Amino acid sequence: MKKLTILGSTGSIGVSTLDVVSAQPDMFKVVALTAGSNMELLKEQIEKYSPEVVSVLNEHKARTLKKMLTGKKPEILHGVAGMIAAATAAETTMVVAAIVGAAGLVPTAAAIMAGKDVALANKETLVTAGHLVMNMVREKGVKLYPVDSEHCAVFQSMVGHRDQDISRVILTASGGPFLNWSRDRLANATVTDALNHPNWSMGRKITVDSATMMNKGLEVIEARWLFDIPVSRIDVNVHPQSIIHSMVEYVDGSVMAQLGVPDMKGPIAYALTYPARIPSGVKPLDLTTLSGLTFFNPDLDRFPALRLAYQASESGESMPAVMNAANEIAVDAFLGGRIGFMAIAESIEKVMNLHTPHALNSIEEVLEADLWGRRTAREVLGVPQP
Ligand code: NAD
Ligand code: MG
Repeated sequence: MKKLTILGSTGSIGVSTLDVVSAQPDMFKVVALTAGSNMELLKEQIEKYSPEVVSVLNEHKARTLKKMLTGKKPEILHGVAGMIAAATAAETTMVVAAIVGAAGLVPTAAAIMAGKDVALANKETLVTAGHLVMNMVREKGVKLYPVDSEHCAVFQSMVGHRDQDISRVILTASGGPFLNWSRDRLANATVTDALNHPNWSMGRKITVDSATMMNKGLEVIEARWLFDIPVSRIDVNVHPQSIIHSMVEYVDGSVMAQLGVPDMKGPIAYALTYPARIPSGVKPLDLTTLSGLTFFNPDLDRFPALRLAYQASESGESMPAVMNAANEIAVDAFLGGRIGFMAIAESIEKVMNLHTPHALNSIEEVLEADLWGRRTAREVLGVPQP
């Protein structure tokens, strides 16, 4: 039986993870849940899965939750210390890292240091601190399974491989809601337009990242660390149908791909039960019902965020963490109606131009670079500092 902590249980990935758990109740036990602010949903999850520990964003939320619960209550913690306690709970064997943004880094790193296997959805952990986190994974001998659908596809396409035989990783991208929008039209894209993703239903931040294609940029960097392959050998193909989830090309010209109906329960289930496969609730794929599968190169002029992510990765050191922080602030400002869509990538580029990359030798130094990126992004955007 896998004993799980789910970080971010009320989010899109958290909810899908609990759906997978519900489909195979004998295989999993939920030890701990953490959530930001949706106390109604967390209450339902507590009543259904009876975790021993839960952690919420702050003390106020913890008090609210305590009042809402009747009957046997779990231990209720809050803040970063609470998330770390949940991530390192003695009974937990696997942590599902499904918090959004750089906020996921500290509890995920704590889980690894405590020797827990990790099912990683929180790509920002590897974008900001990839070299440190992968060193921890090696040092602690834990398993890190990708939940991101592209990386799960690459992982599956690498079963039985030898590193030296891989020539290229090809990440597929849906292209998002603005695939065929002109630059002029993009300048006037609204929040509603950006949140209208054609193939995937996800949290708001990653949905905007998909619209700018920063999501694919973050995934290029994520793949660089997960599979230890330079970004120069990681390509992106726009594939609007989202049926091929990614591919690996080998030196003999063979290309291995993983296909499926776009549904995160598939990659989540594989991360939870690797190498076993379980019925995940994903509908069977019937290729005969599709009118075709198409592929083309991304347009870096209309989607400059993808170019910036390659640049950040080439610069290395603190640059990806700063880029990620600037993106989080810009996406937040866009969602709050304070800036236009194209200003997201423009502001990230300005922040990157203001930054001189330096080595990051600890998680604390990553957090400092993250803070610098956030502060500078707010200055660039004219958004008040907290
Ligand atoms: P979401 O916004 O739906 O959920 C995020 C979860 O994290 C929620 O439970 C929220 O309460 C919690 N949270 C947010 N900020 C927090 C903070 N500061 N402290 C503590 N908890 C906090 O996001 P999501 O779409 O589920 O994405 C989660 C992660 O998985 C992201 O890193 C995303 O890039 C990645 N991912 C998501 C999908 C998807 O289909 N949704 C696919 C691939 C990767
Ligand atoms: Mg993805």
